[in-house]
Amino acid sequence: MANRPGKLVVLSGPSGVGKTTILRLLLADLPHLIPSVSATTRPPRVGEQNGVDYHFIPAEEFERRRSAGDFLECCQVYGRQYWYGTLVDEVTPRLASGEWVVLEIDVEGTLSILARYPDAITIFVEPSHPDQLLERLRGRGTESPEAMARRLEVAHRELLQSHHYQHRVVNDNDVAASVTAIERILFEAGLPEPAAKPRQHHTADHAPSHAPDHSPHTPSGAQT
Ligand code: ADP
Ligand code: 5GP
Repeated sequence: MANRPGKLVVLSGPSGVGKTTILRLLLADLPHLIPSVSATTRPPRVGEQNGVDYHFIPAEEFERRRSAGDFLECCQVYGRQYWYGTLVDEVTPRLASGEWVVLEIDVEGTLSILARYPDAITIFVEPSHPDQLLERLRGRGTESPEAMARRLEVAHRELLQSHHYQHRVVNDNDVAASVTAIERILFEAGLPEPAAKPRQHHTADHAPSHAPDHSPHTPSGAQT
């Protein structure tokens, strides 16, 4: 892929909608898609690994790196509690060598990225009903009741921001269908397809889970 231009893919959606689950499945399927590991001041959840899920760094180090210009974008998410940011080193060298890099970031971060990379492919993952977010956050069991309430408040605001995205995918109860829908978007945008489909259910009769009245659209300046 080194003689082709790299592309940025941005995956967003409210907390609890299933972004991390979907991304894990996408990465297992798509060897040409490389994740950018964000930095955060949030403490790791049980099972999260430093350098894999995030670069977990103290607030002082985050601030120092922010001042040094180490971030492509960064912001405080969830009621100004924790910082999250995309590191320049995770993205620009890979794009320069022709790789496809995927960011899982929030809406504010996406708008910053689009200002610098208007050709980024942006995908917003939505629930089929807002109540699913609470159910899934409860099911995940990683947040205190206060943190869940804060995330849901932000989630409701984020759901109103989905129009900033080129593509919207509804993650209802069939996560495989969401993965298939996103893979189609990426293949249509030029991501090389893997030689063999590793997961059987992707080839089954799952309809793409785009919202009925939210058909993908292409804002001017974005790539198709
Ligand atoms: P996010 O990264 O968007 O906060 P996660 O990927 O952590 O969300 O998913 C939140 C919870 O919902 C997890 O427990 C996950 O297993 C579950 N989940 C994800 N997608 C679905 C789905 N389509 N149907 C039911 N549960 C799901
Ligand atoms: P979580 O704490 O659940 O891992 O992530 C919280 C939120 O932060 C999610 O909406 C996620 O998309 C967002 N996020 C993660 N990394 C980044 C980043 O580097 N930049 C921005 N702007 N948001 C991020």
